[in-house]
Amino acid sequence: MARLDALADRLSKIVGAGSVLTDPAELATYDCDGLTYHRATPGIVVLPDTAEQIAAIVRACAADGVPYVARGSGTGLSGGALPRTDGVLIVTSRMRRVLEVDAANQRAVVEPGVINLDVTRAARPYGYYFAPDPSSQQVCSIGGNVAENSGGAHCLKYGFTVNHVLACEIVTPDGEIVDLTEGPGYDLLGAFVGSEGTLGITTKVTVRLTRLPETVQTLLAGFDTIEHAGEAVSAIIAAGVVPAAIEMMDALSIEAAEAAVRCGYPPGAGAVLIVELDGPASEVDAQFARVKELCGQAFEIRVAADDTERGLIWRGRKSAFAAVGRISPDYIVQDGVIPRTTLPEVLARIDALSREHGVRVANVFHAGDGNLHPLVLFDGAEPGAGERAEEVSGKILDLCIEHGGSITGEHGVGIDKAKHMPRMFTGEDLDTMQMVRCAFDPAGLCNPGKVYPTPRLCGEVPGRRTGVHPLVESGKADLF
Ligand SMILES: Cc1cc2nc3c(=O)[nH]c(=O)nc-3n(C[C@H](O)[C@H](O)[C@H](O)COP(=O)(O)OP(=O)(O)OC[C@H]3O[C@@H](n4cnc5c(N)ncnc54)[C@H](O)[C@@H]3O)c2cc1C
Repeated sequence: MARLDALADRLSKIVGAGSVLTDPAELATYDCDGLTYHRATPGIVVLPDTAEQIAAIVRACAADGVPYVARGSGTGLSGGALPRTDGVLIVTSRMRRVLEVDAANQRAVVEPGVINLDVTRAARPYGYYFAPDPSSQQVCSIGGNVAENSGGAHCLKYGFTVNHVLACEIVTPDGEIVDLTEGPGYDLLGAFVGSEGTLGITTKVTVRLTRLPETVQTLLAGFDTIEHAGEAVSAIIAAGVVPAAIEMMDALSIEAAEAAVRCGYPPGAGAVLIVELDGPASEVDAQFARVKELCGQAFEIRVAADDTERGLIWRGRKSAFAAVGRISPDYIVQDGVIPRTTLPEVLARIDALSREHGVRVANVFHAGDGNLHPLVLFDGAEPGAGERAEEVSGKILDLCIEHGGSITGEHGVGIDKAKHMPRMFTGEDLDTMQMVRCAFDPAGLCNPGKVYPTPRLCGEVPGRRTGVHPLVESGKADLF
């Protein structure tokens, strides 16, 4: 630890002593992200104000061979910002300036610690907003959104964060400040967005602003069964309607939301759908009428008359993850993807898994794009309950893969799902992906231990990969 003490002194010279935390009580605040069952106390926490300071911090870590992890608001759900006890946690929460709103060019330039919703607050007076809307948008940072390529309810129509980032200033793992922009040549910006903090640290982001829609219409439909709700989703999409959002909640998640925020969803519903359309009034009116018809199996349909009623409809959905705490002491928030058409079958299989293992599963999901968020409930005080929940959670991911889907839709791989990567990819696929990482971070100090299950190529613990990489052997790639 003498090495970290000496590094803390050097970091104090870069950012000032008040911006370097080494006191165990203060460090404990940062020992996990939103995935609280992975915890590690960081060796040092540093709170920089500028890109130049981050570059100097990264250079200091590189010189000492000390690993470092970037952290925004710490709301990630895959342990991506889990710190290293032998490393430095670089927290961007003091970098919260909206530097520019350029309405004429539909863009804004923001620092990485800016809260997602604050971009919309800054753009709204000009008639614009920032479209990616994770349910955590009141607290999560743009730097975290970029790293996770975050989604949200309205990403069905508007696309994920990657579709709304025009440029990033980053600090590379060798401590240089560089700009990644859209343009000719390899799409390094595309590679960086969604790289989960493993390729460098974002210090400035230019985001695309979207024009506020002329009109928004929202309905809440209560169905007897989840199958009927699933059929309505398929029918809406098959009819060529692209809603801004289609969200589904099952009976257990409705029960939790009612207990937490009294959202007043239709009593006795086996599932509810929230469908929102936005755009030009003439188009939305016609499509909304069609959507109501397609929800014909619903026993109740409520249409929001104004923003207050719309807010109430969304309140239940947006609170759903946290609300589950009302009906279970512990839970795992799972995140998987399946083709939309397999929704009824996969939900039936999840139900069967739940019964077989005696583990309750509440389902909340972005139904329009097949992104499931099963919430696997357990009581950590009961011996073996956590393990059973983990088992069910893993089997749900297997179901997603089996049905042609993915182990994550928007929460990332982080530390949590690194072990699941070999279920989706071969060893050679993973090695090939790691070569991208090596190109940015040959020393393997930038958020090591995340995303990949078997660190071999980049000098991560337990060391540089031995033997020749298959791509090099076949003459398809050179070693860096
Ligand atoms: C209640 C709740 C609801 C949520 N709903 C959604 C949702 O609807 N959709 C969704 O996609 N996610 C959702 N999330 C997950 C989470 O909010 C997002 O992943 C979010 O983008 C994380 O932002 P953050 O600032 O908290 O990042 P952190 O948790 O601090 O970090 C996340 C990752 O980003 C990296 N990182 C952070 N800042 C930087 C930077 N400046 N440069 C490089 N890497 C960086 C970290 O190293 C880490 O790997 C939800 C979380 C909660 C708790």
